[in-house]
Amino acid sequence: MTPTRSSIRLSDGRELIYFDESPDSGRSGHPDTRQLPPPPPASQLRYDPLTDEWIAVAAHRNTRTFLPPSDACPLCPTSERFASEIPAPDYDVVVFENQFPSFSDRIVPDEITQVTGMVPVRPGRGRCEVVCFTSDHDAAFGSLPPSRVRTVIDALADRTAEISRMPGVAQVFPFENRGVEIGVTLHHPHGQIYAYPTVTPKTAAYLRAAARHREKTGRNLYADVLAAEQEAKVRVVAANEHWTAYVPAAARWPFEVHLAPHRQVPDLPALTDAERDAFGPLYLDVLRRFDGLFGKPMPYISAWHQAVVGEGRDLGYLHLQLFSIRRAADKLKFLAGSESAMGAFVNDIVPEAAAQRLRDI
Ligand SMILES: [Zn+2]
Repeated sequence: MTPTRSSIRLSDGRELIYFDESPDSGRSGHPDTRQLPPPPPASQLRYDPLTDEWIAVAAHRNTRTFLPPSDACPLCPTSERFASEIPAPDYDVVVFENQFPSFSDRIVPDEITQVTGMVPVRPGRGRCEVVCFTSDHDAAFGSLPPSRVRTVIDALADRTAEISRMPGVAQVFPFENRGVEIGVTLHHPHGQIYAYPTVTPKTAAYLRAAARHREKTGRNLYADVLAAEQEAKVRVVAANEHWTAYVPAAARWPFEVHLAPHRQVPDLPALTDAERDAFGPLYLDVLRRFDGLFGKPMPYISAWHQAVVGEGRDLGYLHLQLFSIRRAADKLKFLAGSESAMGAFVNDIVPEAAAQRLRDI
């Protein structure tokens, strides 16, 4: 069932949208009673001519909320004791604009247009949203029922479709960081959506490779990679009628799994009802396997790769990249010299062995 959508404005003008699993929840009848300061100053994008990449500089983010006590959690519903970001006394899934955004569409254009003759600057135009998966502070994504995962997917699809239509947005990226090891600053189960005004370096590299592949073969690069993994089977962790979860043959992280739909679609809005329903059970199964690896919650990054909004959109293929920096029960992989300075990954775990360990759980 499609969730019921209702939106309000927070006291500083930011948009908040409830996605409810039952109709007529009355959530939007609760106004934000806080007196919030106006939005922070705009971030900048500075061009790095040495790497042909844009770097966001957002100084105000240093003051953002850092691991608050659970009775002052900004992502819990508002209670009699504490007025949080969410005015309603309960919710299913809720999405709102980040108070400390790396990118925003509510900015005043900056006067400065270059730092030096070599380094142009552009305003950090875009959008950053927070997605709360549940009102239960102590839950985890992996403990949600499949019906809630479906609501989250519907919310992400709604946001992707709407944000893609905003002027200047090049790419919409929904993701979840889980665990303090990854740098999570709020324990409440939540994800984020970044809408960038430029194509990200990772996606730009994919688009170059995918364009070459299509020129040579006439086919979609990701579709061919998925088909090859399905045929090889050795790195497939789990699958159902609509999705396959596999460890990439050249995985760069100790434990990394891609979940891809069998049908080539550009982004989340393009998924059918059946594909959306089938995602939750498989993803939850993979998350349980992750947590089972070392018998404790696995820190992870869960990243939706979607087609870009503009040129190159036809080269995209929706998939989720899930990976952890934990390589042993008491060891994390840090990005050291080779990875950080050169972007050249060294993986200590053979992908086929990682797939076998995940299948065995
Ligand atoms: Zn909370």
